[in-house]
Amino acid sequence: MKTYLRILTYAKPYGKYLPRYIFFATLAIIFGLLNYALLKPLFDIVFEQVDLEQIAQYRAPMEFSFSVDYLFHTFNHFLVQASDTQGKMGTLKYVCLVIVLSVLLSNVFTYISNVLLAKIRVKVIEKLRMDIFDKASELHLGYFTTERKGDLLSRITNDVQEVENTIVSTLKVAFREPATIIITFIILFALSAKLTFLTLLFLPITGFLISEITKRLKKNATESQESLGRIVTILDETLSGIRIIKAFSARNYISQIFGREVASYSGINISMARKNELAAPLSQFLGVVVVAGILLYGGNLVLNQESDLSASGFFTYIILFTQVLNPSKVISQAISNIQRGIASGERIFAIIDTPPAITDPEPAIAMKEFEESIEFKDVWFSYDKEWVLKGVNLRIEKGKTIALVGPSGGGKSTIADLVPRFYDPTKGTVRIDGEDIRSYKIADLRQHMGIVTQESILFNDTVFKNIAFGKPDAKMEDVIQAAKIANAHAFIEQLENGYETMIGERGTRLSGGQRQRLSIARAVFKNPSILILDEATSALDSESEKLVQDALFNLMKSRTSLVIAHRLSTIQHADEIIVVEKGEIIERGSHAELIERDGLYKKLSQIQQN
Ligand code: ADP
Repeated sequence: MKTYLRILTYAKPYGKYLPRYIFFATLAIIFGLLNYALLKPLFDIVFEQVDLEQIAQYRAPMEFSFSVDYLFHTFNHFLVQASDTQGKMGTLKYVCLVIVLSVLLSNVFTYISNVLLAKIRVKVIEKLRMDIFDKASELHLGYFTTERKGDLLSRITNDVQEVENTIVSTLKVAFREPATIIITFIILFALSAKLTFLTLLFLPITGFLISEITKRLKKNATESQESLGRIVTILDETLSGIRIIKAFSARNYISQIFGREVASYSGINISMARKNELAAPLSQFLGVVVVAGILLYGGNLVLNQESDLSASGFFTYIILFTQVLNPSKVISQAISNIQRGIASGERIFAIIDTPPAITDPEPAIAMKEFEESIEFKDVWFSYDKEWVLKGVNLRIEKGKTIALVGPSGGGKSTIADLVPRFYDPTKGTVRIDGEDIRSYKIADLRQHMGIVTQESILFNDTVFKNIAFGKPDAKMEDVIQAAKIANAHAFIEQLENGYETMIGERGTRLSGGQRQRLSIARAVFKNPSILILDEATSALDSESEKLVQDALFNLMKSRTSLVIAHRLSTIQHADEIIVVEKGEIIERGSHAELIERDGLYKKLSQIQQN
């Protein structure tokens, strides 16, 4: 219920539509019911059940007043006139005309009110989607493990969709259907209070049964959305690894995994459908049982003339009562749907409510310039249980290049991730210019850093925008300058539309080296004082590696760099080489010193030379 109300608060800014909606919906209901209310006079006249005295009173028109009495009187007045002048046939025509008109009006008002509601629905979903997207892009890096990525995608797409389909669409039910039931019951009471009291006794039974079913639905719905998340994860892995899957002829394998998850999803959904589809027919069935009961009991009273109802009144009563069945069916269906929406809503709010693990301190120090050094002081780090870094001490003086080398899984990337605060150390501190980096404003800290990783991340936009990333008002000459330094200008000029070429489009397929040089151009353009290069050349063939290496060399000039390298040849000139193994620094020094030492570095270096 809390989740439901919270989703409704998203509709608050659009409250201005609400009075209009209620106005039009009420008119729609009234004109919709009018048809059936008209049946009584029709029966009366056509089947000659008229009370002459009563008719006489309608012969004179009533003075206008804004009341139900006036409406009835005027309607009957014209009816009697039609009957007087044109006989039964005339009455019939008159009644038919009024029925057609009222149905037309009822539908026009239904249309207007539904369009108003659609506006609210669309806006609510838009805001919800934006909120979850903003939150997801703000979350700390540790949140985005592969397993979570699919789940996250699924929440942003499927769960939001589910909320739209169920909760927001059922907003209609919140007013229109209950109002229809209430208005119908008011008319029913007017026709026969005794019968109506009787039927009201059945309501709690229906309510109880429906709520029992829907309670069980929510658990199913949560499982179903989780399973959908896993399906998206598998899809994501398959699509990004399609090369490997084909190369290893692993289609069967991946297809089996996918098949299992899809089957489990189907199972949950069938179980859900069993309960979900029960609500509406059950409520309709119970409704018809009540109708049959009224027919039997009320019909008996009428036949024995013990009732306050005439035969025509009784018919009208029954027909009007059947009009309650549909809204109750819709309400039960909605209540059962809403359970699914609430399960999805909870999954969405779980993300929106995740507190960011990395936050700005209060008060935060502005970091204007990088002046002295980056320092790791006895840094310990673990992602979950095991220590990944065990007491790392490191100092990078301004203007120097430090290389991290060592076996994979040793903790090099983790060290690099601590500098821009993608993670915070579990113990110990990382300091810049003597100050714990946790006391700087995060945006300031990252402003001073440029990062180039192994996989060059480009966005589906122009070359220009990819280089001037996040700065739409950048000058063309600055972008070209950056591209030149990154050895990218020449090939960019060869592209169909030069700097305005869209990167994602067909026909603009870039090689790994070209993509990498674009990423480097992006880093050059940002002009950071601190650089973090993670395996930046390891995925390239030797020719493009040379171009990329030169580009990197240009980029690193007069900056402070932390370089992670697999190929030791690329970092021989580093000011200090740090060998990391199992979370500890085991050797450090210049290339020459380390070769001299005859340790792990020398071993690795020999392996690579052969
Ligand atoms: P390297 O860069 O030297 O290859 P990493 O810093 O990537 O090493 O990894 C160090 C250790 O931390 C490895 O054992 C790796 O499995 C683990 N690790 C890396 N990233 C994560 C993560 N996001 N969650 C849990 N463990 C991780």
